[in-house]
Amino acid sequence: MSTAAFDPDERPSRPDGRRGGSLRMVRPRRAAPSEAARVTRAEINLAHVRHNLHELRACMEADAAPDATPAEVWPVIKADGYGHGASALGTTLERAGADGLCVALLEEGIELRQAGVRCPVLVMGGYYGRYRDGLEALVEHDLTPVVYDPAQLERLSTATRYLHRERGRAGAPPTLGVHLKIDTGMGRLGLRTETLDPFLDALHRHPELRLDALMTHFACADDPDEEVTRAQLAAFDRATERVKSAGFQPKIRHASNSAACLRFPEAQLSFVRPGIAAIGVHPCPDAPSRSAREANLRPAMRVLSEVVALRDLKKGESIGYGHSWTASRPTRIATIPMGYADGLDRALSNCGEVLIAGRRAPIAGTVSMDLTMIDVTDIPDVAVRDEVVVLGTQKGRLGEDVITAYEMAQTIGRIPWECLTGISRRVPRYYRHP
Ligand SMILES: *Cc1c(COP(=O)(O)O)cnc(C)c1O
Repeated sequence: MSTAAFDPDERPSRPDGRRGGSLRMVRPRRAAPSEAARVTRAEINLAHVRHNLHELRACMEADAAPDATPAEVWPVIKADGYGHGASALGTTLERAGADGLCVALLEEGIELRQAGVRCPVLVMGGYYGRYRDGLEALVEHDLTPVVYDPAQLERLSTATRYLHRERGRAGAPPTLGVHLKIDTGMGRLGLRTETLDPFLDALHRHPELRLDALMTHFACADDPDEEVTRAQLAAFDRATERVKSAGFQPKIRHASNSAACLRFPEAQLSFVRPGIAAIGVHPCPDAPSRSAREANLRPAMRVLSEVVALRDLKKGESIGYGHSWTASRPTRIATIPMGYADGLDRALSNCGEVLIAGRRAPIAGTVSMDLTMIDVTDIPDVAVRDEVVVLGTQKGRLGEDVITAYEMAQTIGRIPWECLTGISRRVPRYYRHP
């Protein structure tokens, strides 16, 4: 795929005349804890986020050759930090020593800058909008672009020159560092190796742009079979040689998501890009690892609610939309104010479980938009206002148990990434800094 090159100076500004620096952010609207009336909530443990960063750095140190610098860790906090809140995660990770951060969207990068993040921020999606204010916002917020298309080079260098002129500066504009993405087999974004040469020619024609890094992305890093990842890494090495022989000296190379950085020490390179591991979820607990160190990750998110209503059913009574559940014995049902609009997947109807008093209880009937019913017959003395854990650990009067994102995902044929990013904006996030 290639878009036609064009000059952003000829491209219309936004109809309302807004400029890059004021690109409007659409922020997830969430009730602040003090104004949240509802009992359903997500607790984010920022100490666990710091712990996970230290664990990942320790893994990079354990895997580095004795005389080599360990790979840096640049956590990926796209999609609002996988539902944990990007600004809280970004500021916490930066203070805990993250060398850089990665996001997917320009808007996500701007949000981090507005939260006060100062470290390098890589915008991986490579899409900066149809208007030139997106490119200007990128430069003005000192975000690092990923490129893979000659048209992007044209637009970026024009935006750099334009901003320089507009600020009334003389001489040549400062160079803008870019990361070039290479498609080594994911088939999603990145330069295909067949088009490497024309791209590098185009790069030579843009002295405003500086090729700082080469990157790629693995398709099967969590697969027990290592073959695809090895082939992708070899293709990345070959592409690197071609870039160097064209006269470029990119100092940085990066490739690894969570699964690759924990399983393939040889793919750690200059820095790794762990997303799910940074929030404490192992990407592939069942695939073998060749890392010298086992990462001891701690999940950062717990999702909690409370019993708001109780009722006793006679044998044979049915409940919920479609009456998909019928009591096979005298049954006690508890209702919690969390439903699919909060991110409790409707596929969990009649098959998911939650924790009450430290013990498991099954979801009974169809998960509805705002409410879900739980069969608490086997848990003595459940009362209104009892805590219910939908995701995470619970210590209660009857014991201690955990529902992991991995378990929740497996129950319904999803992946933990979906379950976590699915917790909706309607659920207020409470941050703990123990
Ligand atoms: C999302 C993403 C990552 C992080 O993936 P995890 O599996 O969550 O670690 C890394 N690199 C790219 C390009 C991504 O899109």
